[in-house]
Amino acid sequence: MSPTSADLLFTPIPDRITRLRDLAYNLYWSWHPEAQDLYRHVDIDLWEAVYHNPVEFLRDVRQRKLEAAASNADYLREYDRVLAKFDHYMAAEDTWFNRTHGDTQGRGVAYFSAEFGIHESLPIYSGGLGVLAGDHVKEASDLNLPFTAVGFLYPQGYFRQRLDHSGWQEAVYNKLNFADIAATPATTPEGGEVVVEIELPGRVLYAKVYKIQVGRVPLLLMDTDIHPNSMQDRELAARLYGGDQDMRVAQEIVLGIGGVRALRKMGISPTAWHMNEGHSAFLVLELAREKVKQGMSFKDACAAIAPHCIFTTHTPVPAGNDAFPLPLIEKYFWQYWTELGISRDEFIEVALQQQSWGPTFAMTVLALKNSNQHNGVSKLHGEVARDMWQWLYPEKPASEVPITSVTNGIHTLTWLAPEMHKLYDAYLGNDWEQAIDDGKRWKEVYDIPDQVLWDTRKALKLQLINDARQRLRQRYTRLNMPTAPAEYTLDPNAFTIGFARRFATYKRATLVFKDPERLKSILNNPQRPAQIIFAGKAHPADDPGKLFIQQVFQMSLQPGFAGKILFIEEYDMCVARYLVHGVDMWLNTPRRPHEASGTSGMKAALNGAPNMSILDGWWPEAFNGKNGWAIGDEREHATQDERDWEDARHMYTQLENDVLPAYFDRDAAGVPHRWLAVAKEAIVTCAPAFSTARMVKEYATRLYVPAMSEVTEK
Ligand SMILES: *Cc1c(COP(=O)(O)O)cnc(C)c1O
Repeated sequence: MSPTSADLLFTPIPDRITRLRDLAYNLYWSWHPEAQDLYRHVDIDLWEAVYHNPVEFLRDVRQRKLEAAASNADYLREYDRVLAKFDHYMAAEDTWFNRTHGDTQGRGVAYFSAEFGIHESLPIYSGGLGVLAGDHVKEASDLNLPFTAVGFLYPQGYFRQRLDHSGWQEAVYNKLNFADIAATPATTPEGGEVVVEIELPGRVLYAKVYKIQVGRVPLLLMDTDIHPNSMQDRELAARLYGGDQDMRVAQEIVLGIGGVRALRKMGISPTAWHMNEGHSAFLVLELAREKVKQGMSFKDACAAIAPHCIFTTHTPVPAGNDAFPLPLIEKYFWQYWTELGISRDEFIEVALQQQSWGPTFAMTVLALKNSNQHNGVSKLHGEVARDMWQWLYPEKPASEVPITSVTNGIHTLTWLAPEMHKLYDAYLGNDWEQAIDDGKRWKEVYDIPDQVLWDTRKALKLQLINDARQRLRQRYTRLNMPTAPAEYTLDPNAFTIGFARRFATYKRATLVFKDPERLKSILNNPQRPAQIIFAGKAHPADDPGKLFIQQVFQMSLQPGFAGKILFIEEYDMCVARYLVHGVDMWLNTPRRPHEASGTSGMKAALNGAPNMSILDGWWPEAFNGKNGWAIGDEREHATQDERDWEDARHMYTQLENDVLPAYFDRDAAGVPHRWLAVAKEAIVTCAPAFSTARMVKEYATRLYVPAMSEVTEK
């Protein structure tokens, strides 16, 4: 069901394939490569030019090409098959949630997040938090949870990354044209458009609500760039994590308070409210305000809503938790607290946290105090969070602080290479997609012949290298530099290490260069050549992070590293896919215990690339001594520099003595059996346990269903 206004923009589609339009307006296609192929096969160049966005594709495609497809028997067979599968998916009633938890009548989850990473063509995510949220939504659709997601439609999204000649990161913002994406105006039960009103100091702000359909789940996104708003307010939510503290409070008010109002206007009544990180925590105030308006006291209102609220913390670094100075909160909430029937002091008390620089209104405190279910995102992070927030529960020892953990996972079909998908279809049984979190099923991977797995892995590496070279060529063209070097960059036969993530300094992207000469000798061993591909963005305000990028870039130009170290610009879900599909090994070197979970390593493992990682985040749960490598130990060290050196030396030694010898130990046909044993072990142990199939089932059973079953007072 596409909107009629957008129809006018589209190239007329032949009747026989007219449902290409339905498919474009459901992001179901984003985790079904065969659905994407229905566009790609019509015009592959255009598909690349519109960055894999079906809506833009249908606007720009030539009618002649559509007509050719509509008269091609092979194309039509595939079209019919994909659409039948899509219809079946949308209609299916025999789904996990229904089987396990029964009828959804009158129950529902609202999932709030400041960012959602669904696909590279929808740039409303910055990194791990957003991609996790996107994966969560897709899985909620697959399992058929009664689920609505709420977030922001940032007209300029997150920035695009460019490096200048010296490797310094520049941020480029592109305006997103809403007609180009699969968003349609959300509607009230009466069919009207949904515009919510939010009181800000001295004015009313309007936010228009759009809907993007993600399989069976609606994703509601608010936009403040609309007519009655002042210029300043129209810019308010222009960028994800842009602006100052003032803008940030306003954005979070729109997300939390505006989000609740949007759901109400649409007649959606969730019985469980999930805050993905503290950005949306103002929602608990709005839920309380509704009850106060019905005559309850603020205190009773809080007690009534907490059982329905769920809060997931993602930030083991204290500075990463949003906390606002009190004058700022007073400026925005001085009317609101009267509506809650409480005083300024009572209001501040709800989220008070003393910081070294003074008292603050802390979003994590607000969320923890007003929800009954809390979790961190790995077992280790759960422990860290219990320590960090123990001061809120003075009567309890840290071990009894009520913050549990649900370890993150990845949406398997989103991150699985189509070539590996074919292998799993052949060896796990055709219905393996229905049993993704079934560890026993994955043991069939041991039976994939090494030669077959090896050929697939080699083909995927070649795709990565071709994509990397192409991106490099584009960069040279942009900077008016000679294009020759790209062809000499990267060797398909070299062992290829991937390192891609946000360039926050705690992730220590430059650790691998601690001893540059030793690294050079490792990479340049003629019997065992190796290379490293880097990618990642630093937050636009994070100069130390940008300096790390520049250091990596400068290293990549040095003799001995040139052609063997490559930094790819614009890390996004597309670059991420190429990397996790094509590298041989995934490297992760955070400063323990600062990585809450990490998910990119799970994506690599799913595709047969083992991890070498610090025992941080998810890795202590996954590492078994046979499915990859651990760097360092779980001890604390005297100084950071000492620890950096120890970790770096341990990494080099394992590369030299263990990893590279295994990879280059080949039989007569050139197959590395020892290496593939590690790769298979990585798949078997990581794919089921670190899938969102496992994760969302855990959220549903342990957190959502209890919250949904609470009796709601009227
Ligand atoms: C998976 C992913 C991340 C998160 O990776 P981490 O391992 O958590 O750092 C960040 N950005 C993109 C584009 C991703 O696909």
